[in-house]
Amino acid sequence: MFIDHEYIYKILEETKNPSNEEIKEVLNKAKKREGLSYKDIAILLQAEDEKDLEEIYSLAGQIKKDIYGKRIVVFAPLYVSDYCVNNCVYCGYQRDNKFNRRRLTMDEVAEEVRILEQMGHKRLALELGEDPVNAPIDYVLECLDTIYKTQNANGEIRRVNVNIAATTVENYKALHEKGIGTYILFQETYHKPTYDLMHPKSIKGDYNYHLTAFDRAMQAGIDDVGAGVLFGLADPRFEVLGLMMHNAHLEEKYGVGFHTISVPRLQEAKGVTLENYPHLLSDKMFKKIVAILRIAVPFTGLILSTRETPAMRKELLKYGVSQISAGSSTGVGGYKEREEGKETKQFKTNDERSPIEILKELLNDGYIPSYCTACYRKGRTGDRFMQLAKSGNIKYVCEPNALMTLHEFTLDYGDKELYDKAQEIINTEVESIEREDIKSYTKESLGKMKSGERDFYL
Ligand code: SF4
Ligand code: SF4
Repeated sequence: MFIDHEYIYKILEETKNPSNEEIKEVLNKAKKREGLSYKDIAILLQAEDEKDLEEIYSLAGQIKKDIYGKRIVVFAPLYVSDYCVNNCVYCGYQRDNKFNRRRLTMDEVAEEVRILEQMGHKRLALELGEDPVNAPIDYVLECLDTIYKTQNANGEIRRVNVNIAATTVENYKALHEKGIGTYILFQETYHKPTYDLMHPKSIKGDYNYHLTAFDRAMQAGIDDVGAGVLFGLADPRFEVLGLMMHNAHLEEKYGVGFHTISVPRLQEAKGVTLENYPHLLSDKMFKKIVAILRIAVPFTGLILSTRETPAMRKELLKYGVSQISAGSSTGVGGYKEREEGKETKQFKTNDERSPIEILKELLNDGYIPSYCTACYRKGRTGDRFMQLAKSGNIKYVCEPNALMTLHEFTLDYGDKELYDKAQEIINTEVESIEREDIKSYTKESLGKMKSGERDFYL
């Protein structure tokens, strides 16, 4: 198995209390983009000195700026079914929790999508529990059809990332054929003894089957996969090294590693308290981990959800997060319920702001909020995406796409304050686009959108 537990324990032991020199040496290597070894990453993970941490944050911020520019991609989750045959100890949907479960009908899915579109969303993450009887693969495929074909006014969902349980090559092929964006699956914890404890007597309890899900997805032709760990279950240093080993395995075997990594922290949920979790992640360690991931896998998007507070999200954007959710509801049918004032949630969220409020803050902080879905629609997935990212050229399409999708958003949604703020930034940024052909395409598209056309991208 490619998560070598003994090796991880060994290097964590060997790299305890690293000196300032050792940390500097690793950071210098990272600055030269030389690629870090597991041992290098372990050294950074054990840095405690404030000065060293500041250097880690500053390098992470620099790498983020160089690769992604100022754009921050915005998306929302869509929960369609809370049926689940598993009993994950940390999750409100665990099968022993007794509550009225449901899956949305296609009319209800369409209703949720309409509400999401009215918020301006273009990119969704489809979420559901594992239940081969109540929510089989055909149900997921039907949901995808419904989402893509539900349009209202100028609203349309252009990319759906899918988070379903580990499954077969055949099922992944069916998902691939439907045109999904990224296939997302969190390992939850790479630490097998903890994994076994957290997933008692269930399909998901098979650590190896879960761990090899991306192999099957890639064999089925899905080349953008998004990983994640639920921080708080096991030693976070172990989890980061586990993520790196998983990523390296995919790179070696399929030529492309993770497209994204999500960094959720354990939250309270129905029937789940935070007692008895000795590895809960402190804010300090969390920031360090986000920065180290940015340094270790510069070309992998980092995703943060509304589990975190606005203040924490603001801080982590500086060190490496490149995608955030906004206006999220984490319950099945939650968007409609929210409109009716009776929302239920899968877990506790801490950022309840609307997308418009979040966009305003992003703009105030110098970012360009982006509803871009271009890469997957242009066929820039898997190694084609990585080539563009590694050549340093991705930001030349990310930023213009961010400007065009932001412009589109402010024409269709938002208020005057957002429109004015966004226009100011769009007008300045468009002038700083280096390539003349890209600059003129962007300017032309911005103009065409004012006359009613939509959906321009590079
Ligand atoms: Fe089911 Fe997923 Fe929750 Fe586990 S984490 S109980 S598989 S919904
Ligand atoms: Fe993402 Fe590609 Fe759009 Fe950049 S251009 S924001 S990488 S989809």
